[in-house]
Amino acid sequence: MSRVLVLNSGSSSLRYRLFDGAEVLAKGLVQRIGESGGDAADHGEALRRLMDELDLTGLAAVGHRVVHGGERFTTATVVDDAVLSAIEELIPLAPLHNPAALTGLRVARRLLPDVPQVAVFDTSFHSTIPPEGALWAIDREVAAKWGIRRYGFHGTSHAYVSRETARLLGKPAGETNVITLHLGNGASAAAVRGGRSVATSMGLTPLPGLVMGTRSGDVDPSLIFHLHREAGMPIDEIEDLLTRRSGMAGLAGDNDLRSVEERCLAGDPEATLAIDVYCRRIREYTGSYLAVLGRVDAITFTGGVGENSRTIRARALAGLEALGISIDPERNARNERVISPDGSPIAVCAVPTEEELEIASEARKAIGSEG
Ligand code: AMP
Repeated sequence: MSRVLVLNSGSSSLRYRLFDGAEVLAKGLVQRIGESGGDAADHGEALRRLMDELDLTGLAAVGHRVVHGGERFTTATVVDDAVLSAIEELIPLAPLHNPAALTGLRVARRLLPDVPQVAVFDTSFHSTIPPEGALWAIDREVAAKWGIRRYGFHGTSHAYVSRETARLLGKPAGETNVITLHLGNGASAAAVRGGRSVATSMGLTPLPGLVMGTRSGDVDPSLIFHLHREAGMPIDEIEDLLTRRSGMAGLAGDNDLRSVEERCLAGDPEATLAIDVYCRRIREYTGSYLAVLGRVDAITFTGGVGENSRTIRARALAGLEALGISIDPERNARNERVISPDGSPIAVCAVPTEEELEIASEARKAIGSEG
């Protein structure tokens, strides 16, 4: 019983991976669900198709990626009716993401009623952030009443790569301090002390922090009042601006970092400035987390950009030799796992993230089978 099916449900997609232990038996993506000419009429049909195609005998669990677990879910949780309602209550905090996960959970419970369904939350890993790192300085009653605090996201990725980094360094994870930089379409930084998250750059929602593909990352919240009052922009339009038309899309007109980077290397000033803003923000968070952690063993890049872009890695951490941080250009160009010179006080690493594998192992833990 070591097989685990991992499902990542989007509003019109279903990404899946079937594991036997750490081995991937099958993976794929059902797309444009519910759209004309799409792969399936609804998530139910998509899952039924998977059940026909995949050998699900001996399935120990289905692990579902759920973006927002709020304050309640600090660990992966076997799903029952009460858990479903609690995830539903969190929809206002993740209006784009939690409804899709709920659809996937409901369909899987119906079609695989004898298999435990486990919700694995993007927020859980960050539940160890101490109050001084999770609270903003606003009226405490308002914050408590409305659940306003830093939850953080990409938790499965930060957990996995921080542990992998400890393994690369040959140190126990419980004694290793790592700054993890997850740079993909979404991007976030985390400070991990001895395997526990103590700071992260995303917040109530996945909007703040680093510059992303289409999300702004940190802004002065007053710009919302300013645009609303002075420009007459409705709140929904400002939300759309900050979540879909900002980040690299806003600065350089393109959310794909690889093409912005190509333009930058060809001398395009708009793309160059966008990359500079992007790297400067990474640097600010890195410096901040050096101070939060006090002692840092490694800085680890991951995500589509972090795993592949030597330019971003080199620019983001350039000139920090006095802090014990340097990058070996050849190791960096070869995308090696450890890209700092031997003997660096702080290692710099590039570690491919494995969010699905982490979800599978969290699902096994939740049902009490670590195999
Ligand atoms: P993810 O969300 O983790 O799949 O990451 C997607 C982002 O990674 C996109 O912005 C891609 O342009 C970027 N990316 C992928 N490969 C590279 C590369 N070789 N160089 C720069 N960016 C890349």
